[in-house]
Amino acid sequence: MRRLFLAAAALFATAAVAQPQPLKPPKLLVVISVDQFSANLFDEYRPQFTSGLARLASGTMFRNGYQSHAMTETCPGHSTILTGDHPARTGIVNNNWIDQSIARSDKSVYCAEDETVPGTSSIAYKVSPRHLLVPTLGELMKARWPGSRSVAVAGKDRAAVMMGGHNPDQRWYWTGAKYDTDLAGVAMPPVVAKVNALAAAGLASARGPLGTTPFCESRSREVAISGGGKPVGSGRLARDAGDQAAFRASPEFDGDTLALAAALVDAMQLGKRADPDLLTIGLSATDYVGHTYGTEGEEMCLQLTELDREIGDFLDVLDSRGIDYAVALTADHGGNDVPERERLAGVADAVRVDPALNIASMGKALVARLGLSGPGLLGDGSYGDIYLDRGLRASDRARLLQAAVAAYRAHPQVEAVFTASQIAATPVPTTPPESWSLIQRVRASYLAGRSGDFFVLLKRDVTPIANTTTHVATHGSLWDYDRRVPILFWRPGTSGTAVEHSVETTDIMPTLASMIGLPVQPGSVDGHCLAEVPGTHCVAR
Ligand SMILES: [Zn+2]
Repeated sequence: MRRLFLAAAALFATAAVAQPQPLKPPKLLVVISVDQFSANLFDEYRPQFTSGLARLASGTMFRNGYQSHAMTETCPGHSTILTGDHPARTGIVNNNWIDQSIARSDKSVYCAEDETVPGTSSIAYKVSPRHLLVPTLGELMKARWPGSRSVAVAGKDRAAVMMGGHNPDQRWYWTGAKYDTDLAGVAMPPVVAKVNALAAAGLASARGPLGTTPFCESRSREVAISGGGKPVGSGRLARDAGDQAAFRASPEFDGDTLALAAALVDAMQLGKRADPDLLTIGLSATDYVGHTYGTEGEEMCLQLTELDREIGDFLDVLDSRGIDYAVALTADHGGNDVPERERLAGVADAVRVDPALNIASMGKALVARLGLSGPGLLGDGSYGDIYLDRGLRASDRARLLQAAVAAYRAHPQVEAVFTASQIAATPVPTTPPESWSLIQRVRASYLAGRSGDFFVLLKRDVTPIANTTTHVATHGSLWDYDRRVPILFWRPGTSGTAVEHSVETTDIMPTLASMIGLPVQPGSVDGHCLAEVPGTHCVAR
């Protein structure tokens, strides 16, 4: 009996030892957004990653993450990541929208500006989070733990604003010559000045071609571009001294942003206090590389190779400081390759948009046909939210809407047109995002008063760039190449799982909140806590 008891006790003890220790909440949450990092690119390059991205992919890897909404642009995408809400609730329906009620002559409103500041425009704007209608994770953390620090760093101001929210302690982004802040009373810490000096010195000198790898060399093939642009595909990202555009479209830019993030970890002593801290990092170079060279050439290969290494170096810094941290990485949207190379790869329908679909041209033609005056239609480019000129009488606006919807629907490159009343009558869906209908996707980035009077969808594989002299490829559609993004959670010392089912970028905020014990009532945000991530205590839906 006694022997049996001892044996049972020993078994019990073994079982007790084998139980994993409950994870303590991390002291620092690091949230990285890689601009235009599509799930297609992630899938394609995952076997090539050996450093930071390989470490993050070894955690809980959701390769079918979704920026579920239709307007897959930088500002709406970043607004979903740390609010837990779709753009319909964050209010960030696009990078720019039209507001014909504002006083200034420029009726375009930039998502991250305060257009009420006299003398500003949507180009020369005053940076502000005022259009973001909901709080971010950092705000909720600071409300619960007044000692929490929230720091936002990014290549683009809109990435820093939308992830950092309304009251970060620090907010730094590249303004064309240096990393700067709009926060009143925040002096430039010496570490920021140091990174700025290094970035300025780097930019001022020419850079030779980057070293390549056998894999990237195998991607090297020059492809001619229609629409006036230069050929792409076999560049190694060399640049002239002082070339700003080439600097942004290269891994140097992300390297400087990560150096700034690492410097601020030390300067702000992030992860070293009793209360948890948040650091958000917007890495913008992948987006500029995608726009400048497309996604399937040697240029993107070199960018992602360097990004992997740079993120690895950054994680090494966190490790060397002995910080207990957790990382979430995702993207604000995906992206698509240049149609010229897509056709070579067998995508027969890949084309550039018909210039006749340009909103200004379309408006002009319709106004002439209906005997009206003024621009008729307002909006950016050739698709998405389109606004009727409020200078027209209501009866003329109704005629114009009818004519515009018919004209767009008749065009062979147009998939569908929805009016604002049709969109508003559609509930925001709660089913898995891959099953959403087209109008449901549009609804998730629709807000009355900011969104257009109607919405035009281009067909799959229509690239909405006709003139390619500055950009050759882009994103912004509701097709899955623009919606599907990786979502990775990783914490040093934890083992991971690869999850196939779809999740959404709105799930990131409630998941991170759960990791640090910050209550988020189910249903109070669009997203859901992801129970697959170690250290979460998700409440059942
Ligand atoms: Zn972009």
